Amino acid sequence: MIKTMEQITTIAEMRIHIKEAKRQGQRIGIVPTMGFLHEGHISLVKAAREICDLVVMSIFVNPLQFGPNEDFERYPRNIERDTELASEAGVDLLFTPDVSEMYPRPILTTVSVANVTAPLCGASRPGHFDGVATVVTKLFQIVQPDYAFFGQKDAQQVAVITQMVADLSMPIQIVPCPIIREADGLAMSSRNVYLSPEERQQALVLSASLRQANEWLDEGITLGEIKERVVQKINEMPLAKIDYVEVLGFPDLEPIEKEAAGQGIIIALAVYFGKTRLIDNLITQIR
Ligand code: AMP
Repeated sequence: MIKTMEQITTIAEMRIHIKEAKRQGQRIGIVPTMGFLHEGHISLVKAAREICDLVVMSIFVNPLQFGPNEDFERYPRNIERDTELASEAGVDLLFTPDVSEMYPRPILTTVSVANVTAPLCGASRPGHFDGVATVVTKLFQIVQPDYAFFGQKDAQQVAVITQMVADLSMPIQIVPCPIIREADGLAMSSRNVYLSPEERQQALVLSASLRQANEWLDEGITLGEIKERVVQKINEMPLAKIDYVEVLGFPDLEPIEKEAAGQGIIIALAVYFGKTRLIDNLITQIR
């Protein structure tokens, strides 16, 4: 049976579909996105298709998670193309509310997660993860999914949502999915379209330095030294401006007190190329 994708723009209409799916005992999966879809997003849909009967993708550029000087207005959007890609990927319901549907009045209730939001992007982008946690909570309330799929490209986001779901007893399993990269190593991102050809070329230093870090771990180089070498390597690129390079424990995102073999770690980077801020990370362990 060929199912056709339905595009839904209102919460009320979504609730009708979800009620019927629940009545039929369907397993519901959600893939929350901000659109301008690429293979990274599509990989989440594929993972959802594997274990869910009904796959919902949301496309919503959430103003709440952008700072006043960030790129909310110019964030890339192309709903026609996204609709085609989502349909081909096997999405059942594409939820594309506008801002007034999600926030009909100023929002006075927000969800705020402590500790895991403190370092990395939480430190550089104050309020960002409150915006993320709040909109994801709203999407979870609207779609009532059994599973929610998130990319490890945004590893801290996965940590925040996992914490939130546990703390608030949300009956949802969070499924983290691996980072999808271009053939040359650049982590896929909707923001990559902002890059000039020179910036695009120099941005390869992110994935390259993470690959090298992995080799340095094999050689038993200390985490402090690895961090310094990564910083140095990125700084060799004239167009790169480091926001942060951090090595933290994973999944707790706490500083590492004592280096021990088997300890889970994340090497996380955020680097500006011009106005474009790119992130990448390596999740691994001390050898
Ligand atoms: P975004 O539209 O950028 O907010 O991303 C929506 C979802 O797709 C998030 O869970 C991201 O982590 C995930 N995602 C974005 N880029 C990638 C990628 N290169 N590989 C895997 N997942 C990704």
